[in-house]
Amino acid sequence: MVKLSEEEWAVCRDDAATLLEHLGYSGWHTTRKFRLFCCAAARRVAHLTELNGEELLRVAEADADGVADPADLAKALARVEEYVRPTNNRLRRRRHGRFKAQRWRWNAVYAILLALAPSKQANEWRSSVCIAGLETWPPDEPSVAELSARVDLVRDIFEDPFRPPSQRIDPRRLSGTAVALARGIAADQAFDRLPILADALEESGCDDPAVLGHCRGCSPHVRGCWVIDLVLRLGVALYAEPVAAPDPARGSVSGTCRPSSGPGR
Ligand SMILES: [Zn+2]
Repeated sequence: MVKLSEEEWAVCRDDAATLLEHLGYSGWHTTRKFRLFCCAAARRVAHLTELNGEELLRVAEADADGVADPADLAKALARVEEYVRPTNNRLRRRRHGRFKAQRWRWNAVYAILLALAPSKQANEWRSSVCIAGLETWPPDEPSVAELSARVDLVRDIFEDPFRPPSQRIDPRRLSGTAVALARGIAADQAFDRLPILADALEESGCDDPAVLGHCRGCSPHVRGCWVIDLVLRLGVALYAEPVAAPDPARGSVSGTCRPSSGPGR
């Protein structure tokens, strides 16, 4: 079991897998969050494959939010499976040889596969830990930037586990304007509007430096951004318009993150 201290959590810059392990054992994060990390991390390396990663990952994200058409999901999954294990023998041999020589390329394909089907690593949490640790760079290239970017994704999607989010924003003072802004940002994935949300939250009496700093900082934001999720989750109790609520957190997690297996195995 990985259990970090608050200081260890704060200083970690290159080990997203350990952060995710810690979050998994803390037990109160939703499977949706882990799935969205899978999607965001897979998107970073999708260009290394010949798959249409953007299209596939949009389906995976919609599924994480419970709004995907099951037929679209099945089709997307079939496309990756067919890519990994082509029925054409010649293609299968060629692809297998290529993946063997370029393991990092196979790992990028595997990341997309896990984003679409996290059950291949037992569950969303295990899949997120696995993707966070996948080597998706050639042996002679530095990995520092990619590892650091994965940590940034964890910190964007998951709030600090040592500071309960309920203490950050007073739901009784949350304004309709702030909720509407958060809803619009989530719908359009327009994260450049986050500084405007910060102003609206401040007017609602929020002075939490982590919330305001997150909105006004220069970190990358992705679907599942913890500030947007927090405002929407609190806002759903106050304002009538329905907001897709995250799935209930799974109480326990199990399974081991086995190394990715190559095609045809
Ligand atoms: Zn964010």
